[in-house]
Amino acid sequence: MNKAPSILRIAVAGPFAGPLDYLPPQGDGPSPTVGARIRVPLGSRRETGVIIGLSDTSDHPRNRLRAATKVLDSEPLLDTTTLSLAQWAARYYHHPIGEVLAGCLPTSLRRGQWPAAQAIHAWRINRDIPDEERLRSVQRAPRQAQILAHIADLGGTASVTELQDLDGDWRGAVKQLVDKQLLEPISDHESVAVPSEAPALNGEQDAAVTAIRATLGEHAVFLLDGITGSGKTEVYLAALQATLRNERQALVLVPEIGLTPQLVQRFRQRLGTRLAVMHSGLADGDRARAWLAARNGSAKVVIGTRSALFTPLARPGLIIVDEEHDLSFKQQDGFRYNARDLAVVRATQLGIPLVLGSATPSLESLHNARQGRYRHLHLNRRAGAARPPEIHLLDLRGQPLQAGLSPELIRQMRRHLEEAGQVLLFLNRRGYAPVLLCHDCGAVAECSRCDARLTYHRAAGRLRCHHCGYERLMDTACHECGGTALLSVGQGTEQLETTLQELFPEHAVSRIDRDTTRRQGAMEALLDDAHSGRSRILLGTQMLAKGHDLPDVSLVGILDCDQGLFGADFRATERMAQLIVQVSGRAGRAQRPGEVFLQTHHPEHPLLVRLLRDGYRAFAEEALTERELMGLPPCGHLALLRAEAPAAGPPRAFLEQARELGRPLAGEGLSLLGPVPAPMERRAGRYRAQLLVQCGDRRMLQRFLARLRPGLADLPLARKVRWSLDVDPQDML
Ligand code: ADP
Ligand code: ZN
Repeated sequence: MNKAPSILRIAVAGPFAGPLDYLPPQGDGPSPTVGARIRVPLGSRRETGVIIGLSDTSDHPRNRLRAATKVLDSEPLLDTTTLSLAQWAARYYHHPIGEVLAGCLPTSLRRGQWPAAQAIHAWRINRDIPDEERLRSVQRAPRQAQILAHIADLGGTASVTELQDLDGDWRGAVKQLVDKQLLEPISDHESVAVPSEAPALNGEQDAAVTAIRATLGEHAVFLLDGITGSGKTEVYLAALQATLRNERQALVLVPEIGLTPQLVQRFRQRLGTRLAVMHSGLADGDRARAWLAARNGSAKVVIGTRSALFTPLARPGLIIVDEEHDLSFKQQDGFRYNARDLAVVRATQLGIPLVLGSATPSLESLHNARQGRYRHLHLNRRAGAARPPEIHLLDLRGQPLQAGLSPELIRQMRRHLEEAGQVLLFLNRRGYAPVLLCHDCGAVAECSRCDARLTYHRAAGRLRCHHCGYERLMDTACHECGGTALLSVGQGTEQLETTLQELFPEHAVSRIDRDTTRRQGAMEALLDDAHSGRSRILLGTQMLAKGHDLPDVSLVGILDCDQGLFGADFRATERMAQLIVQVSGRAGRAQRPGEVFLQTHHPEHPLLVRLLRDGYRAFAEEALTERELMGLPPCGHLALLRAEAPAAGPPRAFLEQARELGRPLAGEGLSLLGPVPAPMERRAGRYRAQLLVQCGDRRMLQRFLARLRPGLADLPLARKVRWSLDVDPQDML
């Protein structure tokens, strides 16, 4: 027999910097292997952890170590590459390995369970059995005959939902039909379509696919920089097909609002293979089964949002990150990783190619491409017949406005609607009005828990805080002076919708924002109205900015692009430019040429002028030069130490202690800036402050953080505040 290891290093969720040491379990059960789950005692509880190392020595005396309870897996659940990715991430983001691994695993697996067998979502009539024979076998079973007839009426396949309409216990009868092999169960990710035909790629697409295909089997990073509608998705699909032909799997990451049923359908139909779809809205059983299907290689393509990055793959061959500039790849709480950046790490570790695609690449990726680390692929023309839209600035100064619409924009809308076009308006503010003002004393309705104003929602008759979720019935009197003359000031999407209905009574209007899409399926229904042309005017917040192919949209209006020009965050202008380009990309995607109108009070703003005259790339070059001068990312590196508490003093004081702790560790070229209050200091009743670490050299920053981090937990105020460390923060709020 092999000599068993004497010490197990086990990652357990919790605030432990590293793995915990245990003795091997006594008694029966699988023997410990790296990557297997294991039950361990922790205090008075039992927890499930993952074995990440075997050793013969420990820093603790043997007699102080406890024995693990039981190994749960006879073969590792996590393979070595997934484990080393998690370990890399734990080191880089200075986050506990147990927490990182807990985040990698679906809940049931993390708890030491195993998901129930394949959930059956639908049944299909078995066509291998001739009709007469089928009828004969259910002659004496009227219930079964009725169900077969019902399924035949539905086209031969019926889902659980469709059968639920039947009275009584249909499951028993369905089970008997399955036992007789008259029905075949189909599970969700097994519904494999016959692959559909791809369009012939144009020259640029073909060159991109050829370049990617040539690297299958080795490591390379591509920045696929293609204008909206240039056919990036077709490039992904061709690269995926090549990967599948090599009998390899692929991982496709998309932004949170990009993972639409239409997108999944497009991939499923084109690839004709088993997909595993992974997103946070999945029931855990489905998530765990999809995860296991990817791990054992039966799902060939994993398509998912941020956390899908950690899905183990039996035979990895390619990673794709679509809309790589999107903010949703960065997790904003807990384990604050960036899935786009970790995709680069994962592709390097696996020795496979990675494709980062966008019409508006992040400055980070453009910088990497410029430095030669990424290979820059361009798609400069729209695929098919579509032409790029014409973009115009509308000067708002001195103009009379109706719910934020200038007379010229209303005129242009009328023209497009008369010519049977579709109009898309973009306003990044939901609700009826962002400010409620007392006409008598000038007081503004504010959230009592945040440094923020309450937004008036008229249909609901409520005032709501968009930052903490506080809400109350609409005020009837001013809270300061009791006056009853309350004025709503400014406009949100709800008000714009009302005004549009008055201005264009003959056209249906669809509003798409968080309020109108809260109900499940509401988003699909609204988009359906837009697709079918029933609704001619669409308005929405940035939810509407991307991912949706609306071929009849001929006019796009951006009501207020000034918000982004003067934002507090150094990335505000980059985001505004990305938004303008992405929203504009909604215009004229098919045969119909599009027009875009941007309303602004600052038509001479250099960013707008540069963007409109010379395009996104010229804008990005200029922005990069500016970042270089300022030592800001991607030309410098940041980490943000945040702290918050119910009073303003402790967060500030904790960060001052952290700064004193860090000062002797900071070398030349590393600055500690702050502490300062967060841009919105009070949120949900907590005061927030931050200390910024800035350094020109990423490795120096990492060394500094590694030395600072252990001491933070021991600072006198560490238990009085909630604190977190954000490496490469995307958001300075
Ligand atoms: P992107 O992802 O760059 O926005 P898509 O891949 O969605 O672009 O393509 C935009 C539209 O052009 C889609 O309707 C797509 O079917 C079509 N398309 C893409 N490539 C071609 C091609 N080579 N020939 C014809 N149509 C194409
Ligand atoms: Zn609030």
